[in-house]
Amino acid sequence: TARAETHEFQAETQQLLQLVVHSIYSNKDVFLRELISNAADALDKLRLASFANKDLQVDTSDLHVEIAIDPEQRTLTVRDNGIGMSRAEVVDLIGTIAKSGTAELLAKVRDSQDSAAELIGQFGVGFYSSFMVADRVGLTTRRAGEDEATRWESDGSGTYTVETVPDAAQGTSVTLWLKPEEADDNLFDYTSEHKIRELVRRYSDFITWPIRMEVERADDEGETRRETDTLNSMKALWARPRDEISDEEYAEFYQHISRDRREPLEVVAVQAEGTFEYKALLFIPSHAPGDLFAEDHRQGVQLYVKRVFVMDECEALVPPYLRFIKGVVDAQDLSLNISREILQQDRQINLMRRRLTKKVLSTVKTMMSENPERYATVWREFGAVLKEGILSDPDNRDTIVEIASFASTRDPEKPTTLREYVERMGEGQRDIYYMTGASRSVIESSPHIEAFRAKGYEVLLLTDPVDEVWVDVVPEFDGTPLRSIAKGELDLDADGDEDAEPEQRHEEFAELLSWMSDLLADQVKEVRLSSRLTTSPACLVSGAHEMTPTMEKLYRAMGQ
Ligand code: ADP
Ligand code: MG
Repeated sequence: TARAETHEFQAETQQLLQLVVHSIYSNKDVFLRELISNAADALDKLRLASFANKDLQVDTSDLHVEIAIDPEQRTLTVRDNGIGMSRAEVVDLIGTIAKSGTAELLAKVRDSQDSAAELIGQFGVGFYSSFMVADRVGLTTRRAGEDEATRWESDGSGTYTVETVPDAAQGTSVTLWLKPEEADDNLFDYTSEHKIRELVRRYSDFITWPIRMEVERADDEGETRRETDTLNSMKALWARPRDEISDEEYAEFYQHISRDRREPLEVVAVQAEGTFEYKALLFIPSHAPGDLFAEDHRQGVQLYVKRVFVMDECEALVPPYLRFIKGVVDAQDLSLNISREILQQDRQINLMRRRLTKKVLSTVKTMMSENPERYATVWREFGAVLKEGILSDPDNRDTIVEIASFASTRDPEKPTTLREYVERMGEGQRDIYYMTGASRSVIESSPHIEAFRAKGYEVLLLTDPVDEVWVDVVPEFDGTPLRSIAKGELDLDADGDEDAEPEQRHEEFAELLSWMSDLLADQVKEVRLSSRLTTSPACLVSGAHEMTPTMEKLYRAMGQ
């Protein structure tokens, strides 16, 4: 019989629906992503089933998703010719929430009303998200290999109806009767072709099945014709073997996701198998954006779950000092509705971030020997940001120090790595000398540097604000101490070419020193003889463990 049976939603489902209807999501657009992802899953399942069971009488020749809009009726339909559902499955999967943890989640939501949206976001309401935008939802489905189909319908309040219908196309068709627009300011027009195109491109562009829509087009004679368009590019480059992808394809993809019209400098691909499967396709841009140091700089990595877009600027995927990296991470096993907060705490995500970080750093390291020019560009554009990692990422500190280059007194045109510096060091030199300051010219004209010049010692010129800070946590490089020429006592006389012993000289100048100490008592801590000057009569230095003037300024600027 074709009579519809009325069922009540399971109590928990009903509570969940209440939350959905009362807009727990700030972003209602995601309902379409959910429906398309269900359709794509159903197509995947059908393909698998037809491989597994050769006797299954199904047509897999043109698997696809189809969207139809009807502005007059205010309906939106998402159809697929995938696996479909039996009647029992409809009742089971759509009428109840079989997922574990639902009760627990609802209890949590009840106890803390303020963050209901967040809590529910971690859980994902999938199919039910349709009720954010629709006041009636109908579903017709026929399971592959079965003759009879099932019709399900509900207004999302307390009940739904199910009936067996004699025939229907294989697969599932979901129709939404959209709420009146004026009922909610946030409700966009989901019956506009433009809006649907935009949403598919944003959330479902890399779904591997075609997502089609019939649209009206004016031809050359001004007649309107109906034609079928495929809305998604399906080009999930990260899912394809690297050697099959051309540089042009990479560049096009990079431009698509980064809104940068230039070519990327380098591609970094990572594939992880095992319990937590994911693929990542990251890019090192060729130019730093202007706002890299702005507080609200947007991080570029996007998170996908099984090719469905989940979020932009996902800061949990790369550390802040790699914020210039663009790209995509696609994970197999996450909820589409996972929240930023949960991502930050997720163990698997943290492992992923560490792996991606190491891969980016090792890529730069490889570049140093294999493509020095490219390396030089990376460092010129992003070195100042990368150096933040020396401080914030102790695990990778050594690697970052190793791949870093610095301006030096040796050649104004050519930055040097610490390794190159050490290799050039002469017999008597035991330390790597550096000086921090606002700019190259400020440092070069400071009296501190005179004696080093005179003796032919190379001095590194560290002019990024972050340099003031990281030098404190890196006492040495590969056994060679790093030494600021502006701090503490520097014994340049070790090679013994001075004419007097230090004690003797101190006696000679004792009176002058104590007179000056008294005179300057309010300004300086101590006045002492120095061997670091050649032509300037005096210079200011900080204690070995005190802040340099630039650093004092930096901390003051940070409000400390
Ligand atoms: P999820 O996709 O996370 O399982 P949903 O609420 O989106 O949760 O869907 C619930 C279940 O309903 C799915 O797991 C699937 O078994 C079934 N389903 C939903 N849409 C379809 C569809 N288009 N074709 C076949 N089965 C579907
Ligand atoms: Mg789903």
